[in-house]
Amino acid sequence: MQQLIKDALKQNRFKLYYQPKVDIKTKKIVGCEALIRLTDPIEGIIPPYRFIGIAEENKMIIPLGEWIMQEAVSQIKKWEQTPLKDIKVSINLSAIQFQDPELLQKIKNYTHSIERNKLDIELTESVLIKHFKERLKVIKGIKELGISLSLDDFGTGYSSLSYLKEIPFDTLKIDKSFIDNIYTKDDLTFINMIVGIADDLHLNVVAEGVETKEQLKLLEEIHCKEYQGYLCSKPVPPKEFEELFSLHCV
Ligand code: C2E
Ligand code: MG
Ligand code: MG
Ligand code: MG
Repeated sequence: MQQLIKDALKQNRFKLYYQPKVDIKTKKIVGCEALIRLTDPIEGIIPPYRFIGIAEENKMIIPLGEWIMQEAVSQIKKWEQTPLKDIKVSINLSAIQFQDPELLQKIKNYTHSIERNKLDIELTESVLIKHFKERLKVIKGIKELGISLSLDDFGTGYSSLSYLKEIPFDTLKIDKSFIDNIYTKDDLTFINMIVGIADDLHLNVVAEGVETKEQLKLLEEIHCKEYQGYLCSKPVPPKEFEELFSLHCV
């Protein structure tokens, strides 16, 4: 598998797809999340759950993560002179990438050619479980570069309110599992709570995995700021994303 990833990198077979983040009030696309795909001559497009875990186990996620960052930065540069110039692009950073002592320096180097506020980094709480102090230092370093920070899959796993207090996040992303169950009273209560916390802390809040108009309506009613999900679009290649952008999302 290690060799497979190395070969795929060499053969340029990884692709970044982009999924819109939509402002719920204006219905405008304001950002996107870059999500990796592996193209295979036989199998076609291979989704990340098939290789990210393995790439984390054998640490190939470190060079792969660097490719992802370079690719996203190059996309931001391409969009600089187009109507998409204000789009914010989020990338996902794996906890394993934080084991790399050079991570912060690498981020700095890879992003020197763009306005860094066009880049957002999504982290999950798994980054913070071990070596909290060291991780916090790196995360604050990233933030000081001008890159914004999102807390991904919020509400699942090891969510702790103390993370919100100590880490300078800009955005909370409400996990899809809550949105799936938004019709049940408890889940709507939790979503409402998370939106309230985000509001009180002056953070942006994104609902993940919105698939229906009914879900969007409920999110609108509780003043959730942004959504991401198949209702607008699946993750798509850059060209298709550009087309989506010139249209309008629901
Ligand atoms: P994530 O970061 O939480 O990304 C959101 C996932 O939810 C994406 O799956 C996206 O396609 C999916 N999704 C969004 N809206 C909907 C919806 O309405 N319905 C459904 N059923 N799914 C929706 P994807 O692209 O398969 O990625 C899965 C996970 O793999 C990501 O979860 C992330 O943890 C990881 N991943 C993906 N790309 C990267 C990457 O470039 N780097 C790293 N480190 N991890 C990545
Ligand atoms: Mg994410
Ligand atoms: Mg997520
Ligand atoms: Mg996830």
